[in-house]
Amino acid sequence: MADHFNLYPLKHFASIVADCMDLPLPGEYEPTIPWVSEILKERLGKTADRVVLYHADAVGQYIWQKYTSYFAPVYKYTSLAIPFLSTVESVTPVAHASMYTGLDPEGHGIQTYTRPQLTCSTLFDVLIAAGKKVAIVAQADSTFLHIFKGRELDYFEEPNGLSVQEKALELIATDAYDVISIHTFDYDNAAHAFGPESKQGLNAICLEADGFARIAEALKKNEGHTTLLTYSPDHGQHPVAGNHGAHGSKQIEDMNILHFFATL
Ligand SMILES: [Zn+2]
Repeated sequence: MADHFNLYPLKHFASIVADCMDLPLPGEYEPTIPWVSEILKERLGKTADRVVLYHADAVGQYIWQKYTSYFAPVYKYTSLAIPFLSTVESVTPVAHASMYTGLDPEGHGIQTYTRPQLTCSTLFDVLIAAGKKVAIVAQADSTFLHIFKGRELDYFEEPNGLSVQEKALELIATDAYDVISIHTFDYDNAAHAFGPESKQGLNAICLEADGFARIAEALKKNEGHTTLLTYSPDHGQHPVAGNHGAHGSKQIEDMNILHFFATL
């Protein structure tokens, strides 16, 4: 049987988020997926005034298929899961640039593993122009700190995934931000080093899923908001010789991913 690639490209991501906030995007952005927007907006009840986007790096759909129970902490708080197709190449800067610009790689210009500061309009620019207070919380040397730098938003660089979680919880408790983008890549690191299904890799999957749940719980405690929370990986990883992992190819292990959405 042939490989089955997921239908929806990642470039829908920016419009799905913006639509839940009733923020119009410039015409070059890929539009939302109407039925996804409809479901999310109905569940939100009104415009989302707080958005938290959690990007666990390199979590492929087949990891979810084979280790479904490890995602229980994500299921606990989310109500919608949508299969997405990563970018070509299936690497972090290409995929995250498409997610935050609504463009194909040829459109935003990052087509391989390079990390220039994006000069085209990003979701961050639209949010800032609309008066939103935005933070990026990411592990040291995260792609987010390169390609989205130079904006009027607050950047928090943390040494590891756990300290990213702690910083995100702290920011949620202060209630100072309308939008927080979070990027952790402990799974990506472990999967490269020991293989996508290694003990170390799967342990990181669980740590990141637990982190997502801690964030969801903190958002629920901080009442008075209408909140969209997403679990949004960028690409997967496939095993390579020597018990290592890699990505960047067009294999379904790299291309097929799953996003989860919560309305809190
Ligand atoms: Zn990545």
